[in-house]
Amino acid sequence: MKKVFLLYLLSAVLVSADNLQRLESGNETFLDTESIQKIREKFIGYQVPFAAFLACADSRVAPEILFSQSIGDLFVVRNAGNVIDDVVIASLEFAVDVLQVPMLIVIGHQNCGAVNGALQLTLEDIKVKPSSLNTIFKKIQPSLDNVVDNSEITQSKMDQAVKDNAVYQLDVLISKSSVIQKKIRKKELVVYALYYEIDTGKVFELNR
Ligand SMILES: [Zn+2]
Repeated sequence: MKKVFLLYLLSAVLVSADNLQRLESGNETFLDTESIQKIREKFIGYQVPFAAFLACADSRVAPEILFSQSIGDLFVVRNAGNVIDDVVIASLEFAVDVLQVPMLIVIGHQNCGAVNGALQLTLEDIKVKPSSLNTIFKKIQPSLDNVVDNSEITQSKMDQAVKDNAVYQLDVLISKSSVIQKKIRKKELVVYALYYEIDTGKVFELNR
């Protein structure tokens, strides 16, 4: 038993070393890419992003990659489920008020684990582990009224839940931020809720 555990530990350490090596090698590639280094050098002392994002932390949905943007282009806040809390509001207000970003976007994505988890939790009486996830689910649940019924959870229901959550989080953000309200009123800021469809790679604007 002890031997098996030690082998497991050793393989975990080796995998971890491999992953670190992978990141080191990635940084070398970054440093070797001249076009990127020029942009990095240009923005050493300042930034002028043209859009601010609230996106999910999911590893498949980085806005910089989805929209083919580079260093300095996007101001991105991410967490599981693209939910609003005080730190998110403060971060986005910094983007809008201090950096004068003229466009603000909340983007949800297909097959979002956080939204699907909130949907399951609403429809089924399940225990969540780790329990800290409930903090996120509770922020998503108010957006699910239109998709919660007695029928089973389908792909289209999950897709709709993600869309409803993106629109809802944007509405919460606006309702809680007088800074953002003022910017919209003065026509210095436009806001959008978007949906990223993983199975096609396309992004759609959502109606609010
Ligand atoms: Zn997600």
